[in-house]
Amino acid sequence: MTDWSRLTHAYGPADDIPALLKQLGEQPRAELWNDLWSALCHQGGVYDASFAALPWLAGQAAGTDREQVVNAVVLAAAILAAADDCGYTAEDTAPYAPEQDALRAAAEQQLHARRCPPLEYIYLMAAMLTFEGQTHWNEDLPAGLSDGEYELTCPACSAALLMVLDERGFYVAEADDEGWSRPLRPIDAARLEGLGRRLYDLADGDGQHEIATLLTFVFGEADCPRCEAGFVVTERIGVPIDED
Ligand SMILES: [Zn+2]
Repeated sequence: MTDWSRLTHAYGPADDIPALLKQLGEQPRAELWNDLWSALCHQGGVYDASFAALPWLAGQAAGTDREQVVNAVVLAAAILAAADDCGYTAEDTAPYAPEQDALRAAAEQQLHARRCPPLEYIYLMAAMLTFEGQTHWNEDLPAGLSDGEYELTCPACSAALLMVLDERGFYVAEADDEGWSRPLRPIDAARLEGLGRRLYDLADGDGQHEIATLLTFVFGEADCPRCEAGFVVTERIGVPIDED
């Protein structure tokens, strides 16, 4: 039995969490999920109470209410991805391995649901990778595929670049002068290997053809508009724009 009064979250002692979880279990309302998010995964910060909530989240993810399942999966993935960023180690999250397995299975099952909205699909795909231990994708995949852009730096000249992939077009530009741009070079889907192959086949098999196409850009190549050096996109995304 979890002693919540000994744990903390973003606003202090976590003894209010059991009541919130009970309420959420009975009436899954969006504002209650928001309350849980801000207590347990506050602007990228996580707390001991965040980890203690993983079994409850895994329990919800095993349910049949799709919205509740997706909410639980996405919050659990955000907690685990933030744990990595906040300096927690694999040892800290190891006790929750069974929950991560259950959450992974729930995420994958929801991916195959018919007519999964594309945005939800992207978050579920990123969550699935997070539960497998590839936590950096939790931000990197939605960043590019739903917001339509990545910030990156040129590996050769360190220019700050913006990679755009949405209705504006598919190109890389200098971050402070979008007038200088070069078209992206998507990989031929037949040449995809490894993770790119797996994600492409998953999206394609689930009828998410638009996402499959976007993945050929994420796993493709680009050229720096300043120095013309070519590079592999996945090796540069997730690198903060002010770093070398
Ligand atoms: Zn360059």
